[in-house]
Amino acid sequence: MLKKEKYEIEKSNIQNVEEEIKKLEEALSSVIEETKNSIKELQKEENNEQLQIMQAYLMILQDETLLERTKIMIKDEQLDSIYATKKGLDEIIENFKNIDNEYLAERAKDIEDIKNRIIFKLLNKEEAKFHNLEPNTIIVTDELTTSDTSDINLKNVQGIISEIGGPNSHVSIIARNKQIPMIIRVDDVADKVKNGDLLIINGDTGEIYINPPNEEIKKYQELQRLAQEKKIKLEAYKNKSAKTKDNYQVEISCNIGKPADLEDAINVGADGIGLFRTEFLFMDSKQMPTEEEQFESYKKVAEIMKEKLSIIRTLDVGGDKEIPYLNLEKEDNPFLGYRAIRLCLENTELFKIQLRAILRASKYGNLAIMFPMISTIEELRKAKSIVEECKSELDDKKIPYNSNIKVGMMIEIPATAIMADSFAKECDFFSIGTNDLIQYTLAAERGNPKIAHLYTKNHPAIIKLIKYTVEAAHNNGIFCGMCGEAASNIHYIPLLVGLGLDEFSMNSSAILEAKRVITNLDKNNCEKLVEKVLKAESDKEVEKILKEFKY
Ligand code: PEP
Ligand code: MG
Repeated sequence: MLKKEKYEIEKSNIQNVEEEIKKLEEALSSVIEETKNSIKELQKEENNEQLQIMQAYLMILQDETLLERTKIMIKDEQLDSIYATKKGLDEIIENFKNIDNEYLAERAKDIEDIKNRIIFKLLNKEEAKFHNLEPNTIIVTDELTTSDTSDINLKNVQGIISEIGGPNSHVSIIARNKQIPMIIRVDDVADKVKNGDLLIINGDTGEIYINPPNEEIKKYQELQRLAQEKKIKLEAYKNKSAKTKDNYQVEISCNIGKPADLEDAINVGADGIGLFRTEFLFMDSKQMPTEEEQFESYKKVAEIMKEKLSIIRTLDVGGDKEIPYLNLEKEDNPFLGYRAIRLCLENTELFKIQLRAILRASKYGNLAIMFPMISTIEELRKAKSIVEECKSELDDKKIPYNSNIKVGMMIEIPATAIMADSFAKECDFFSIGTNDLIQYTLAAERGNPKIAHLYTKNHPAIIKLIKYTVEAAHNNGIFCGMCGEAASNIHYIPLLVGLGLDEFSMNSSAILEAKRVITNLDKNNCEKLVEKVLKAESDKEVEKILKEFKY
């Protein structure tokens, strides 16, 4: 277990101003040196995302004005370098926090982090080093900062426990993709454990054991062994296609948030990319990614996935996904507000930059465009006409692209599922976004724990909407996928096979298990299961039928 240390500071006065300033400058140089070394390492690893973060850090560290106030305090108030660093940088942090601009307010966190690093140097204390972790380390922290995240050697991280943090924080997303168990919002955990303690964490249940008795260790070692064994068995499905016993074949595709996730998609033998959540490119960047930057990302997907269909979803920001530099107004009901395609259709320049980048990249593989949060046919038509405009612009400049690129839409608003027949006539494919479809159909916000019991894919209304959507797609000769979390649920997959879903898209970590389930199914039996489920009137009944289904 490695714990992020905290420090206590007391004010003391000094005799020798010069000496105190010298100590401060040495501490700063040493932090700059460490940052440069991290940058070199990241350049070697070609880790561009973390590289950008560290380069921005270096710029702040090298800014002459950073320690100006601190030095004045040492000279004028005879404060010691540690106390003056805290006081001087706290002033800057407060100023940043008070600026009514989310991006700049965020920078306050970077300066807070820099303050701690300098103070650790001045205290001659070793900060917890995340880049040199021992194998099997569990990180315990009040909060993982951006620079901590950049520093972590994930191969050696066995788990993370954090007092602060949300499921969509940078570190939560990375942990999920790498299948690292993480428990967040645990009060005072950093005070309850010390470095070197033996910890067991259960990411499924949120349980944490500090220095557990031997029997508990044995029990968890056994669970770990079984999980490892299962993982090895699942490897066999990597090169198998997802075909039922009676030869009904579906596609198992992968959801990604950035090109770096492609490696995991390839490693599990994904049939394609069913959802590239491009908003992560925007969220990971400090300003709007340029057309060139976006083009490079989409091109990577096209080149790596080759002929396998890779669906690039246009910017889906808003709701629970914030992008500070877009300066969006706070809304009372963000999930029902100005988000995704609604925002893109109002900001056509931003939208066109993205569409041109996707079109240009389409020449390198098999890309498709998908619009999120469509609610009316006019929105679909307008979005498509902007794609056509972009194509003409590229034609004028003789820039090549795939002129037959498929254009589809997400079905995640109940109105579009009910009207799926009309929408199917005007696009090339559907992908059902159950994460949002459930919250909008059942009026139950997707992240609100108080109403989690209402938010369920098993509600008969959700199943009927999926059924309408798949049927409308097939009646109009287009394919229907699903990229919401429901697509990877092992009890739901048989139902979706019975309903005739063509493509299942999910996190890479769920793909092998989904292939295993599908290869053991019989389409006929799945259709019988559908008949039974359609007679049910409550989610509890549906859940029971799905759990009892034998295959
Ligand atoms: C969905 O809504 O199901 C979906 C896949 O999109 P997101 O989770 O990004 O809203
Ligand atoms: Mg959605």
